[in-house]
Amino acid sequence: MTALKDMWLEMHWNTKLHRKVLGSQQGNCAFYEWALELQNQNTLLYGNTAHLSDIQLCNQLEANICDKLTVPVLRAKLTNNISLKKWIEEVKHLDDKHLKDLASHRKITEELYRTSKHAMSSTKTSSSKTYNPSSSCLGTLTEAERTLLMKHRGCFKCRKFYVLHQLKDCTNGTLEASSYKTLTEADAIMAKLKTKTIAAIRPVGAVMPSPFQNRPPYVALSLDRAFF
Ligand SMILES: [Zn+2]
Repeated sequence: MTALKDMWLEMHWNTKLHRKVLGSQQGNCAFYEWALELQNQNTLLYGNTAHLSDIQLCNQLEANICDKLTVPVLRAKLTNNISLKKWIEEVKHLDDKHLKDLASHRKITEELYRTSKHAMSSTKTSSSKTYNPSSSCLGTLTEAERTLLMKHRGCFKCRKFYVLHQLKDCTNGTLEASSYKTLTEADAIMAKLKTKTIAAIRPVGAVMPSPFQNRPPYVALSLDRAFF
């Protein structure tokens, strides 16, 4: 009775282990550790009908490696005429290479992310400076200047009269505080006269400022989109 029980337990244990070997998949494990574990389990089955031969174990491993390794292993055409030990070593080499590539890709991606983030934040800083008429390099517009600019179709950023754009569309560079003089009614009249003269010589369309001038760099933004 005891012998029968032992035999049954033994058989049960073998079947369980055999199933475990056949059902094992690499998943997220490193290939070499997984292959060693499977070899150890198979060794325990030695002498039993459930024990896998080297060729069977090799097929078992090959059929259950992770997706990322499948293509490199197939390309390497390893299964012909090499021992199980050699096959495992070769696949380990491919797995190591794959992990190394993965690590360097991650590093490149992180680097690009950092660079694009930096470029984006510097673009933000420069644009907020550009569109802010009261930036540190130039004094805030006085109430009189504001009124003048409004009256004479001026731009609050470049502070020019009779222009065809507004503050948010202004493509002119930031003014230098050193060369700036407070706006007067006379300036507005001068600008009006100039505009009339230009309009008389050339059609208005020809003096329109290009909307593509002084654009902030969008390279960083498109990079960001490409990678994330
Ligand atoms: Zn302007």
